[in-house]
Amino acid sequence: MRIVIARMEHETNTFSPMPTPLIAFGAGNGVGPAFGAEARVAMTEARVTMGGMLAVAARRDCEIVTPLAAMAYPSGPVHAKAYERMAESILDAVASGCDAILLDLHGAMVAEPNRFGSGADGERDLLAAIRRIAPRTPLAVGLDLHGNLSRRMIEMADIVVGYKTYPHIDMFETGEHTARLLFDMLDGRIRPVIGFAQAPVLAQTLMMNTNLGAMREALAGAHWREKDPGILACSVFGGFPQADTRDAGMSVVVVADAKRPGARALAERTARWGADFLDSRRAEFIFAETPLHESIAAAVRAGQAGAGRPVILLDHGDNCMSGGTCDTVDVPRAALEAGLDGIVVGPTRDPEAVAAMLQAGVGAQVTLDIGGKTPMPAIGVERPRPLRLSGTVRAISSGEYVVSGPIFTGQTLHMGRTAVLDTGRIKMVVTSELQEPLDLACFTSVGVDPLEAKFLVLKSRMYFRPVFEPLAAAAIPCASAGVTSSDNAIFRFKHVRRPIYPLDRD
Ligand SMILES: [Zn+2]
Repeated sequence: MRIVIARMEHETNTFSPMPTPLIAFGAGNGVGPAFGAEARVAMTEARVTMGGMLAVAARRDCEIVTPLAAMAYPSGPVHAKAYERMAESILDAVASGCDAILLDLHGAMVAEPNRFGSGADGERDLLAAIRRIAPRTPLAVGLDLHGNLSRRMIEMADIVVGYKTYPHIDMFETGEHTARLLFDMLDGRIRPVIGFAQAPVLAQTLMMNTNLGAMREALAGAHWREKDPGILACSVFGGFPQADTRDAGMSVVVVADAKRPGARALAERTARWGADFLDSRRAEFIFAETPLHESIAAAVRAGQAGAGRPVILLDHGDNCMSGGTCDTVDVPRAALEAGLDGIVVGPTRDPEAVAAMLQAGVGAQVTLDIGGKTPMPAIGVERPRPLRLSGTVRAISSGEYVVSGPIFTGQTLHMGRTAVLDTGRIKMVVTSELQEPLDLACFTSVGVDPLEAKFLVLKSRMYFRPVFEPLAAAAIPCASAGVTSSDNAIFRFKHVRRPIYPLDRD
């Protein structure tokens, strides 16, 4: 028996100006995807979906073929050539003959128009191409909870399973679940049928924490439905809202066992029931944005009550893990204008400013325009405004550090050449590349102690939480004009299905 197992993941922010070429993808630390045997080495024991799939397959007497392991952090649409190269590697493996296919996909991939289709639904184009050469080969797909799913895509697979957690801590288990069902199908123990329903809700990722509120209840419902012996998998998808595609938004996928009577109706009914639940709680999936000056005032109050611990100004509208440019400066500017001091700003991408500081040298006095350099035409920001600061260059580094925190533990991360500018009131960590502040070392590696800050600006949504939140007096969400904003008013949706809440309120 020959099984093809591959990973091709990207969460595409269609509003993001950040490019997504082939080298943006990697199998871990590398630059560019891993192909063939390298992909297998990179993914064996990796705590991601493909790792779980490989672990299950390795226990079976089968030949495993791994054409591709590729994942890129969120950014704009995948370049056509990159998409084609990755898709072709999977299609070649399928075309050379296989008995089953296991895919680790995201569900919200958008590509530039390419030879496989319009690119608007990257996963559907890939599955359609596979089905043209392997129309009946058992095919199982593991997906991210942020997938934007369509019935046309789902129905090309035999089995679809999504993560049940956000922050995602069950990727490996999702891969195991998907692979287990595929082997049960190959062994003739089950005959999967899929039910699908969309909820007309464009939920915001900030409100999809599966430990809180309506999302927690929805996932509890999915776990409960999986106790029904006729239901093989029940997955709730929050969707990814920074995607102007027809099928952006929430959905539910149910896999039932057609060896039992009424399976198709059960799958459809359960999916519809889940989608109706999401719709009934739709207001809870929308983040209530506060004007920036009010957030700054709230941060000052939190600081006074904070017993000396820093208050996080959470710049969630410019989160590079969701496609942000990592160079907007609305939040530090507002903090300075409000008269705050003791401000420390986490990684802000500006290679030009870093180069200028590098040339000036540590200890030099400089006046620089920092950040605010990447136009974001899709949200109407054609000419962003940098932040002009005068201060001392405090540090220059290669931007490498080893993570000690709980996410990516032990990995070496790269911020690119990095420098610190200190004006006395504000210290900014300026990087050459995108960097999510998920570990203290993005500060400490350049000699900045984030715990000495009164106010700590972090461009993040979820990944700062395990490390920074317990150390802070409070984390105050701050609105900024960025491509990961939770203010739908700044996005111009043209393609998403209508009506959809909250764009169309009733
Ligand atoms: Zn996700």
